[in-house]
Amino acid sequence: MHDEDFCCAVCLDFFIEPCIIECGHSFCHLCIASHLNINEKCPLCRAHTGKPIRNRQLESLTMSYISSRDLSNTYYERMKSNKKKLLLQNKALLIIWSELNNKPGQSTELCNLVKNVQDQELKSEILWQVKQQVGVGLEHIGDLETETVTIRLKTSRQ
Ligand SMILES: [Zn+2]
Ligand SMILES: [Zn+2]
Repeated sequence: MHDEDFCCAVCLDFFIEPCIIECGHSFCHLCIASHLNINEKCPLCRAHTGKPIRNRQLESLTMSYISSRDLSNTYYERMKSNKKKLLLQNKALLIIWSELNNKPGQSTELCNLVKNVQDQELKSEILWQVKQQVGVGLEHIGDLETETVTIRLKTSRQ
């Protein structure tokens, strides 16, 4: 057994909550979820894929490898921070998609997406996710660096 048997090809670190996709490749939950938000293909073999499924067998193998190598402390720190990032990302995307779906013409100014958000971390995550989604699920009219830029759902998703 080697380190690389338990490593994710996206973050190059040990799997955290590994998920398997249709082609049979596995990645950390956070790594594959972030990737699939902007690209529907496998990061390794580029096969089209649907929703990732938790790979519990690989998860327990990774966990026993981690504890046999005495790496638990750093592993659990990463696990905590991954869970937090995933939650933040999901919250940000939920705000973006629900705001746009409820607007006439499915468009709004960027400032409307963040105006009721008190949490600074969530606010910057929303701004970051909007930039990530431009050209994928969203398009913009105006200067993306200003909060008055108009954001709207892309009419044809590839
Ligand atoms: Zn990863
Ligand atoms: Zn693959």
